[in-house]
Amino acid sequence: MMENEIKSTKAATGRGQRKFISLASVSRYLGRLRMAGVEIKEIRKSYGAVEVIHGVNFDITDGEFVALVGPSGCGKSTLLRMIAGLEPINSGTISIGDRVVNNLPPAERDIAMVFQTYALYPHKSVAENMGFALKVAKTDKKEITRRVKEAAEILGLTEYLDRKPRHLSGGQRQRVAMGRAIVRDPQVFLFDEPLSNLDAKLRIQMRTEIKELHQRLKTTTVFVTHDQIEAMTLADQIVVMQSGQIEQIGTPLDLYDNPVNEFVATFIGAPSMNLLQGRLSDGRIHVGDRDYSGPLGHGLVNLGIRPEHLLLTDQGLAMEVKVVEPTGSETMVFLRFEGQDVTAIFRERHDFKPGQIINLRPDPEHLHCFDLTTSQRMI
Ligand code: ADP
Ligand code: MG
Repeated sequence: MMENEIKSTKAATGRGQRKFISLASVSRYLGRLRMAGVEIKEIRKSYGAVEVIHGVNFDITDGEFVALVGPSGCGKSTLLRMIAGLEPINSGTISIGDRVVNNLPPAERDIAMVFQTYALYPHKSVAENMGFALKVAKTDKKEITRRVKEAAEILGLTEYLDRKPRHLSGGQRQRVAMGRAIVRDPQVFLFDEPLSNLDAKLRIQMRTEIKELHQRLKTTTVFVTHDQIEAMTLADQIVVMQSGQIEQIGTPLDLYDNPVNEFVATFIGAPSMNLLQGRLSDGRIHVGDRDYSGPLGHGLVNLGIRPEHLLLTDQGLAMEVKVVEPTGSETMVFLRFEGQDVTAIFRERHDFKPGQIINLRPDPEHLHCFDLTTSQRMI
């Protein structure tokens, strides 16, 4: 079907018919038609003499939700701003849909960005805030009203359209910021830590709302966060960055189950994966007075074990209990083993005492082995 047919479908959503064709379905339809994937090829960026993005590559397929995650300063915002066109790139190619957008200004890239500080216009109503970009773009007034109304319905803001931002809660303001992006019906949403300014409870609630929104609109999304839980819960694919480089790309569970190096292994998952120093020889990893099945090879390694994969037995590694944290649904235990900190999580309740020695056996089904020198996963 041609794009002008879509336009006439849109135009036909006048009185009476409107309720049958939602913005969501039209947006989904257009999104598919325009095939707005994003392709990042060999992107480099320097500020002065300092290179902060060192040749980054990844592809986002149409409709996918991708999280860019990594510690503060690793280059997430810089990369997102380059996709948006707010920051020039030094080399490489950025494509949105089938267009190379390197030299296009932000307004022509068909993207909409939501920032951490969403700075609404205080003297404008919710409706005016949401429709402002369309007004600037000289969109027809009726069309602005229609799109704002539909976005408000999607976001549950209908009854607040006449209010000023100061009469809204934090979550509602965040929704208005998203509304501003939605009304533009872009090919790609770009989010830069949009939830970081919200308190913990609201952050979790908004996280669910963003996920639900993506399930409805299916708009290609790049979501930047330093919070791995946010990345894990929201994304189809996660791009893990460190110091201007990509460490690993994968689905949340790929990264959790098969981290390629110690950085990803300890960054993804909370509490972090335990790393116990050991010695690999003839396919056995020796730790303390025990040994476990490992990859081929020799040398010093770190044995990686997630907290939930330490099993209570009498045939394990003897560890000293330091602190016990019962949360009701589980028991978190902090321990020491040969001068190393270890965390274990049990689904059951335990009444361990500080100073007590307990025996924990790494679950042989879930062991990870990293080369001590290179920090890379050994297979
Ligand atoms: P993140 O969003 O992951 O926290 P940024 O993309 O903001 O990281 O920053 C990446 C690196 O680039 C950091 O080392 C930061 O200090 C540097 N940087 C960011 N913006 C500028 C700028 N305008 N001038 C100089 N250096 C910058
Ligand atoms: Mg940032």
